Amino acid sequence: MSVKNGVSETLHVHEDPLCPACGGSNKPESVFCAHCDKALGPFRYVREELAAGTSRFEALADSVTEFIGRPHFFIVHSVWFLLWIAANAGIVMTVRQFDAYPYNLLSILLAVEAIFITGFVLISQNRQQALIEKTAELDYEVNVRAYREIQELKAMTHEVLSRLENMEKAAGNRQREEGNKGI
Ligand SMILES: [Zn+2]
Repeated sequence: MSVKNGVSETLHVHEDPLCPACGGSNKPESVFCAHCDKALGPFRYVREELAAGTSRFEALADSVTEFIGRPHFFIVHSVWFLLWIAANAGIVMTVRQFDAYPYNLLSILLAVEAIFITGFVLISQNRQQALIEKTAELDYEVNVRAYREIQELKAMTHEVLSRLENMEKAAGNRQREEGNKGI
């Protein structure tokens, strides 16, 4: 059992806690980064890892999916449909009709948009799934490390206890010997 090694390893972890996420320096006793609130320590940073490997297209898919999930998406479409129908129903006199009822061009555009949206949402969903899996993996990793540390602490405690018992026995023996001499 390397009690000394265990102690030095633990001390080593707390030296110079530079944030791996933002690179900011922190006080030696900090648990979370003062700049970005990330937990400091020798473990993986799943979100940053994933962001580093993101292609431009994936980033685009993420922002499109984010936009679709907002009320803005419905507002933009409602305005678009209203203007389209108004223009082609002859309500707006300044615009010439370009897609008469039943708005075939609008249907084609919407069908194409639906195909793109489906693709973007699926790409974004796959990335979300990857993030969830990586986070679960990280949880597992941290749990295993905590388990090992606990095992090490347990072994250290046992060693300390047995040494204490030995010392107590030795002290008892010495006292008895001194008592015998005194008689
Ligand atoms: Zn930070």
